[in-house]
Amino acid sequence: MNFNGFYFDELWDIIVVGAGPAGLTAGFFGARGGHSTLVIGSLYDSHLARARTVNNFPGIDEFVGIDFLFKLKDQVEQWNGQLLDGEVVSIETKNGRFIVQIKTQGVISTCQASTVVLSMGTLQTRLMVPGEREFLGRGVYYCALCEGYLIRDKTVVVYGEGVALSSTTLWLADLAKSVLCLALTEELDGDKNLLSRLKSIENVEVRTNVKLQKILGENKVQGIQFMDRKTRAIETLDTEFVFIESRTVPAIQFAKTLNLALSSEDYILVDRSQHTSLAGVFAAGDITGGFKQVIKSSAEGAVAVLSASDFLKRRGTSARQLISERTPDNFGLPDLASVPEQSESIFTYLYNNLHFAAKYRKAQLDPEPLILLHAFHDINAVLVTGKYCPECYNYLPLVAKLSLNLPTWAFSVVSVEEEGVIEQFNIKHIPTLILSDSRGIEIGRKILSLIPKSSSLEREIYLMISKAQREHKIV
Ligand SMILES: Cc1cc2nc3c(=O)[nH]c(=O)nc-3n(C[C@H](O)[C@H](O)[C@H](O)COP(=O)(O)OP(=O)(O)OC[C@H]3O[C@@H](n4cnc5c(N)ncnc54)[C@H](O)[C@@H]3O)c2cc1C
Repeated sequence: MNFNGFYFDELWDIIVVGAGPAGLTAGFFGARGGHSTLVIGSLYDSHLARARTVNNFPGIDEFVGIDFLFKLKDQVEQWNGQLLDGEVVSIETKNGRFIVQIKTQGVISTCQASTVVLSMGTLQTRLMVPGEREFLGRGVYYCALCEGYLIRDKTVVVYGEGVALSSTTLWLADLAKSVLCLALTEELDGDKNLLSRLKSIENVEVRTNVKLQKILGENKVQGIQFMDRKTRAIETLDTEFVFIESRTVPAIQFAKTLNLALSSEDYILVDRSQHTSLAGVFAAGDITGGFKQVIKSSAEGAVAVLSASDFLKRRGTSARQLISERTPDNFGLPDLASVPEQSESIFTYLYNNLHFAAKYRKAQLDPEPLILLHAFHDINAVLVTGKYCPECYNYLPLVAKLSLNLPTWAFSVVSVEEEGVIEQFNIKHIPTLILSDSRGIEIGRKILSLIPKSSSLEREIYLMISKAQREHKIV
């Protein structure tokens, strides 16, 4: 099966599951070693995509998380490794091969591999406290890098545990008037440099050994209730913003069917060469437990693939000839001249960021609601995004494709980093799509990251316009 130039059903020497530092480093080592290598996963879903500043990687002074991931991606592609933005839903063994089922835009397809490297990282858990779900996007946030812009000169709370809590506190302190960092644990996590930087900042107050009990408010966050775990004293505090850095758990859902040996906390058990308990399956990165650091993930990714390479050689499965057609093409970008004038700003954005172009090529529109949308004309659609918002990058190509299919609509993209945008559009969350009619009257708005998986952007837009019509809000 051919999917936008990608061939399923192929046999790969190495399939790597996960596109964080572990998976991408594995992909780079695999491809560079002459093996046909496929990396499956999303860069934007890597934990590293949420890190504003990383300064504990040897040889590099400081970097932004997502930049580092894109550098690794380039290295994979330079050596003709292939990346696929999809989700692995199952892996089975058959006749000494691994049958890998992959979901891409709702479609399940299959690839085969002689060896597999698992590097799915961890998932952030929900706290399950009252108010957490109700106020999501209305004062409760999980990505400080994305939503941090909302809190300029405000007082905010950040709650949770791990290095991510310390790192997020540091980033928020740069923007907010003051930050109260509430740690569930007895001590803050992080290296000496990070912790001493935190201590030296005047607008940060740290309280440890506390448990968040409730997020309070009506329609939006107005405060929190928390308990001092030592004295059991309960306190309340006024705030409009709560950023959560909760516990993480290994992302092993589908891997459970492989019956791999796991630790008591469900991390995949490996030996020093990253072998799991199943021959031909290797694991690397946060999913193997221990310290959660970029360098550890990358190093384990490299070792896993060197071991996979040994395994292939011992089994006599020599590295296959690399297929020259796999070199990245021109990203399939449409000819800019054919793009309607009204969607130019999206395309300028897209064109300047070639990485989005691969996503653009793969973006598929929901045909039924799209046909219905053609009945409406002269609608203004403004997509509000942010420079460091991974979700925005995920949606931008889809909106760009939609703009091409709705030539009578005017599409534009604005960034919350631009002066006055937050106030002008009254933004509480990004990415948000705002629709207005030809008079400039708002028809409705949608936070794109909250669209349920069972729906689609086009369907939600159609529902929004139909509702406005029923309520006689549009002419
Ligand atoms: C805010 C923050 C700041 C941080 N700062 C630092 C720092 O300064 N220094 C440092 O060393 N570390 C830092 N870390 C930790 C670091 O980001 C992680 O240790 C690292 O990203 C782990 O790499 P990984 O490849 O194991 O997993 P991840 O980076 O989490 O990547 C997991 C990958 O697996 C993919 N995936 C999951 N399930 C599937 C599936 N079923 N199918 C396909 N793909 C799947 C995801 O899409 C993703 O691509 C920070 C983390 C956070 C959250």
